[in-house]
Amino acid sequence: MSLPFLRSAVVQLAAYAPHIESAEDPSPAQLALSLDRLDTNECPYDLPEALKEKLAWLLHHDIAANRYPDGGHGALKAAIAQYVTETASAEASFSAAHISVGNGSDELIRSLLIATCIGGEGAVLVADPTFSMYGILARTLGIPVVAVGRSEDTFEVDLAAAQQAIDRPQGLPVRVVFMVHPNSPTGNALTAAEIAWLEQLPPEILVVVDEAYFEFSQQTTVDAVLKRPNWVVMRTFSKAFRLAAYRVGYAVANPGLTQALEKVRLPYNLPSLTQAAAQLALAHRQELLAVVPEIQQQRRELAAAIARHTPLRLWPSAANFLYGRPPTPPGQPLKAELERWFNHLRAQGTLVRHTGGGLRITVGTPAENQRTLAHLQQV
Ligand SMILES: *Cc1c(COP(=O)(O)O)cnc(C)c1O
Repeated sequence: MSLPFLRSAVVQLAAYAPHIESAEDPSPAQLALSLDRLDTNECPYDLPEALKEKLAWLLHHDIAANRYPDGGHGALKAAIAQYVTETASAEASFSAAHISVGNGSDELIRSLLIATCIGGEGAVLVADPTFSMYGILARTLGIPVVAVGRSEDTFEVDLAAAQQAIDRPQGLPVRVVFMVHPNSPTGNALTAAEIAWLEQLPPEILVVVDEAYFEFSQQTTVDAVLKRPNWVVMRTFSKAFRLAAYRVGYAVANPGLTQALEKVRLPYNLPSLTQAAAQLALAHRQELLAVVPEIQQQRRELAAAIARHTPLRLWPSAANFLYGRPPTPPGQPLKAELERWFNHLRAQGTLVRHTGGGLRITVGTPAENQRTLAHLQQV
């Protein structure tokens, strides 16, 4: 069908597909009952029953359905600022003015792009393989994406190529650099050299450090926000805080930048129940985050078992997922081999993601991880 009114950038774009399906495979509905969903890096545990009941109570008694949500997110931002302060070094302190919240961090990525690059003002720089949403959202807004590579051994960013892309732009100047810490899908945290390189970038380049997996890595650059006006840290409630269904992410930045983000977002971007859920999760953070050490331990055990019992090459991970590559038989392209592993695993009931030249496997419950190992051994 011809839709000549659409922008060419939108027509050419492939939609984000979280679950890769192929026509011959059984449908997700056919598999849903027995499928271990280890493809999107959520926490394997739902909210505890008592918290679900509290949320249901709030929905019934506290939230008037006919009223708009709190469009300023005041209470939520204050609670997030308190949590962020706990995660920073002892002398660092954050207030609600340092926080902006989004309908998932995905919304914040888009707000950052609108506030910086849109309208031919600049390009973004990413280091592949990395989280695909930066590139996808940039392209929907007509913003050019400059991609540099990473070391095949450690997945450290090719800093020489990144510096060259900044010093000698092919088109628009680089305005924003997106880094994930630790990176998805490869699991590596930023090294001291990478952080030092980011810190020396000039003030007209915004540095975005996406710490979606902070609770699993316990590594953060959030202190830099207080020293550098061009530094923003993003985090999410979708992973360790078990609220992926509710859609809450936040940015930590200097108050000037958070004000800019507030200007470009939709006025009521977070439903009342979503704000209540995030506040409840923060109030019960000790209980919710108590499973993080178990997941870290499961990651170590699963990695050791995969290394011992399967031919996958695994890389060290600081997050709640593992990244591995199968050996490629001579003459066989890696992509076909990855698809073969993906399909085998899926047929046995383990859904992983094949992306960025490898398999990304979320660490699940101990029972799920046992099945992951058994299914990998059978490929
Ligand atoms: C999962 C993830 C997010 C979270 O996105 P939400 O929109 O908050 O669910 C952000 N960044 C990265 C790198 C992720 O892997």
